[in-house]
Amino acid sequence: MTRMTDRRRQLSDCDVPGVAVTPRGRHRARSRATERRGSVAVGIAVAAGALVTAGAQYASPAQAQAVPVHEATPMQDPVAEYLPQILAIPEISNINDAIEQLAKGQRRAEESAARDAAALRPLFVRPVAGTLTSDFGPRWGTTHTGLDIANAIGTPVYAAAEGTVLDSGPADGFGLWVRLQHDDGTTTVYGHIDQTLVTVGQRVQAGEQIATVGNRGQSTGPHLHFEVVDAAGSKVDPQEWLASRGVALSDAAVRS
Ligand SMILES: [Zn+2]
Repeated sequence: MTRMTDRRRQLSDCDVPGVAVTPRGRHRARSRATERRGSVAVGIAVAAGALVTAGAQYASPAQAQAVPVHEATPMQDPVAEYLPQILAIPEISNINDAIEQLAKGQRRAEESAARDAAALRPLFVRPVAGTLTSDFGPRWGTTHTGLDIANAIGTPVYAAAEGTVLDSGPADGFGLWVRLQHDDGTTTVYGHIDQTLVTVGQRVQAGEQIATVGNRGQSTGPHLHFEVVDAAGSKVDPQEWLASRGVALSDAAVRS
């Protein structure tokens, strides 16, 4: 069953319009119908195969056009266009396989996107934007155990690193604070905040907003007091701690 043979048949039919149907003609008509059914069955199998292939790797338009229904039915019978869809029911298990493959592909894509997002997420971030108004170290005859970064009330305060909320609420001197426990034993402190957005025990990511800048407690203006306590319990210079982790306070920060 070649294209040439079919074309010849088609031409011979066209060349003799109105000719009475002979027994030979009927035979030819029947065989063409039989042939068409056979080719449709092949077409379904190929179409189902293309669908399964699409689950693993998207079928190209060229592959989709490779279905031999039209090749074997040069008469362009419009009904034949719809037959594969009607007769595809026996191939339902293949279609289910294809759907399952597509769902697996979707899950793999989502997992990959989640991994990419985790890889892009910073490990350490600046806890707040603003102006550095007080360093870590001696101050007014005592020791200032953190950084003061001034900004307007309501400015977002972010977790400097991934961790778990140890404290969230009122605190002496700080008015209201959040304290985070990090996986390496370090803790970070966020004092004088106006509002806390987290609860004790909550897991937070680096850069996740945990609070807003406030002016509560022993504070002379809206700012964040940010402290870092190492695993041994020593308060360390937060600016050095951040710098050694690739985080610089804004270049615009001004010391006073
Ligand atoms: Zn302070």
